[in-house]
Amino acid sequence: MGNGVFKEEHDNMIMVRDIELYSLCEHHMLPFFGKAHVAYIPNGKIVGLSKIPRIVDVYARRLQVQERLTEQIAEGLCRVLHPSGVGVVIEAYHLCMMMRGIEKQNSKTITSSLRGAFREDPKTRDEFLRLAHSTNGLHHY
Ligand SMILES: [Zn+2]
Repeated sequence: MGNGVFKEEHDNMIMVRDIELYSLCEHHMLPFFGKAHVAYIPNGKIVGLSKIPRIVDVYARRLQVQERLTEQIAEGLCRVLHPSGVGVVIEAYHLCMMMRGIEKQNSKTITSSLRGAFREDPKTRDEFLRLAHSTNGLHHY
């Protein structure tokens, strides 16, 4: 199988939080940056944990809009793992917004993509969103 994908019987949520993210807004050609939280529920396959930040990087490293980036990360994981569910949350600061005024310095854009069990099972969704948002945030930026 290669690519750091392993067979594994495991059906609990696996989550990698606080993945640093740098990308470039295609509307304004200005950076946006923040954190991604990525989780999935395996369906017979898992990836090495270091692979998840690499998937984030692959999609961040092009001209992007945050909503599409969020979807592409979820889609990328679905393609590699065919998991029972995937959840992706991205919280990011956009330089294009920050430059429009000092009062916007702290506005953070949050996007999410939920698939499979993360969309259909309220308990799974709640668990994921609680874990994703229990972050003490980005205030050292
Ligand atoms: Zn922009």
